[in-house]
Amino acid sequence: MPGADAEGRRLAQLAEIPVSVLDALKPKRAKALADFGVHSILDLLTTYPRRYIDRTRAADVADLAVGDEAVVFAEVKRVRSDRPRGRSRVEVKVADDSGEVSLVFFNQPWREEQLTAGSQLLVWGKLTEFRGRRQMTHPVVDLVARVESGATESRMLQVIPVYPASAKAGLTSWEIGTYVKEALSRSGRLVDPVPPEWRRRLRLQGRTEALEAIHEPETMSDPWPARDRLVFDELLRLQLILVLRRRATERSAGSIRHDVSVVELTPGAADGATLVSRFVAGLPFQLTGAQHDALAQIFTDMAGPLPMHRLLQGDVGSGKTVVAVGAMLAAVQGGHQATLMAPTEVLADQHVLGVRALVEDLWVPDPGRLGGRRPLSVGLLTNRVSARERTRMLAELASGQMDIVIGTHALLTEDVEFASLGVVVVDEQHRFGVEQRAGLRAKGRIVDAESGASVDPDLLVMTATPIPRTAAMVVFGDLDMTVVGELPPGRAPVTTRWARGPLEEEAAWERVRREVEAGHRAYVICPLVEESDRVAARSAVEEHRRLSGGALAGLEVGLLHGQMPTAEKQEVMDRFRDGLVQVLVATTVIEVGIDVPEATVMVVEDADRFGIAQLHQLRGRVGRSSMPSWCFLLGAATSEGGETRLSALERTTDGFELAEVDLELRGEGTVLGERQTGSSGLRLAKLRRDREWVERARRVAEAIVEADPELAGHPELAEEVRLLLDPQTAAFLFKS
Ligand code: ADP
Ligand code: MG
Repeated sequence: MPGADAEGRRLAQLAEIPVSVLDALKPKRAKALADFGVHSILDLLTTYPRRYIDRTRAADVADLAVGDEAVVFAEVKRVRSDRPRGRSRVEVKVADDSGEVSLVFFNQPWREEQLTAGSQLLVWGKLTEFRGRRQMTHPVVDLVARVESGATESRMLQVIPVYPASAKAGLTSWEIGTYVKEALSRSGRLVDPVPPEWRRRLRLQGRTEALEAIHEPETMSDPWPARDRLVFDELLRLQLILVLRRRATERSAGSIRHDVSVVELTPGAADGATLVSRFVAGLPFQLTGAQHDALAQIFTDMAGPLPMHRLLQGDVGSGKTVVAVGAMLAAVQGGHQATLMAPTEVLADQHVLGVRALVEDLWVPDPGRLGGRRPLSVGLLTNRVSARERTRMLAELASGQMDIVIGTHALLTEDVEFASLGVVVVDEQHRFGVEQRAGLRAKGRIVDAESGASVDPDLLVMTATPIPRTAAMVVFGDLDMTVVGELPPGRAPVTTRWARGPLEEEAAWERVRREVEAGHRAYVICPLVEESDRVAARSAVEEHRRLSGGALAGLEVGLLHGQMPTAEKQEVMDRFRDGLVQVLVATTVIEVGIDVPEATVMVVEDADRFGIAQLHQLRGRVGRSSMPSWCFLLGAATSEGGETRLSALERTTDGFELAEVDLELRGEGTVLGERQTGSSGLRLAKLRRDREWVERARRVAEAIVEADPELAGHPELAEEVRLLLDPQTAAFLFKS
């Protein structure tokens, strides 16, 4: 392979060397590796074993009983293939000194060539009986030695790594292991980019040792410290990117220094006070300590010379909206504007209602008007807005007559211009990427005519339900974090019951009738339909009919779904709020933001179909007053995951705890979203298992960048980070 530097090879060099240099790789097989996503030596070395088999623990074939799961070490005697009912079937008879057993493979015709007579196999599987014959169907097979043109090739390992073999590409674990072995021995020593001091403090193995130990462990415990080291490398690269991104955004623009010095966050402020003071004074409640602290942090950011980049987390019902509105008003009181971007039209509608209600009586100075003031103006901009309305709004945004605009992606279109955008609130729900956040911020960028410096609006990102701390450090690691860790006082807890059968279900409907009789309101959430809004709407219509004639006969039952015209939706919501509609049968359009304090019961049908975060968010629609509330989850669980989800919801109403359960169940893929997993370079790291390493990597990344913002003194780290980035982003992050 091409030469190495004095201290060894760098990852970037290994990424340049194609697998075709390997002697063991026949040209035909390069295609299989490519299909498997392995092109370079680096790809190969970072294809890690999924597990290990301890050869010393192999059992005797004769000792196995039907139902046993075991590892046996055996030799191939005969291979037979046929096609019963058109399906390929390969039967491999293997034996050890004690007896024989058949291995059966369906739809894997390549097994016939792979498992030739005389080959020695390590087989891991479950013994079953079929027509009186002892067999294992689709066992994990590791070719330990194979007879090939007379010569025996043998890897007599104690511990055998099992690679993620690919049936599709016809790649076996053994084959991958062979290539990895050669790649490892020919790569020689690798450069270790982690400064020795950190390696010592974190007790990290060297990189070369770690790669060897993970691919060719001598004992079953060798891979663990190796894994830690390699996990740390992955996480460190990611955290360096996040910390560098943070610095680069700060460096690329200054920000409006909002005037928040005169803000008085106490109730009772009079006419002469600032907008924010009047807002707080006008609230029908006192801010919680957590809301107060969150606002104080936000105001400090907003007054500072760097653009704010803050994540606002809090449980459902903790009052994040009030905090977000406070931030927006802090911008407006200095003569700037604010915007709130939501992921869906329904959410944008809801936010407009909520925000308008909160700022109803507020005014801003306007010398052009009689009395020198005008009402604060809040607009809604989505794709549903008519062309005429849109033109009018765009004019008002450009002139500064509109103070706050709430909307969807429609806000990102080119013709939207602001007179002076001071703060951007993004209601995330994991749906916007870093790029979109950047896009919205760019809308508000002003270039100062005199100095030529750019000025960015402040950014506040909100999540609807909490996300675990480690996941936040990875997904939102370029943001500062504020947690609103307290619910408003006087909330009666929501009692959650998982109604698994008809009896419990009857109790749920009984509770609905009782609450409605007491003058309260109820939600019924229709089963989740994946296909489309249209199908969901149809099922809601049917459910509405069924319940009105059955379990809820005699009650005023309303219907709400995403396909209804806005005006109709508005009307049914108003009637529900006023109590003319007592039970609202709805799709998940009500998921977020709906706020009717008199609602004290929620029934979720087919609850098993919903995710934890969604159920928690839905449940947040009740329990919004001091009256006790109930949430009934209907239906049996169809999986172990469902069982865990529904029991967790029954057990706790703590969104942070539920977020951990969710991460545990679903893994990082879903938390990070597609946008992150692909490009994150996380192959070994698991957010659940590697919590501590995430935090350590964060600390190290911060310390390194703090002392060396351009990574000039860490050229190997800089190079490894660049490997994960497209050239444009790399240029942005490393621009001096
Ligand atoms: P979140 O968005 O965090 O789930 P909201 O902002 O929708 O929560 O607030 C939930 C409800 O609590 C709303 O009805 C809101 O008016 C009310 N609320 C917010 N802050 C307080 C407070 N400090 N005291 C009492 N009620 C509050
Ligand atoms: Mg909310």
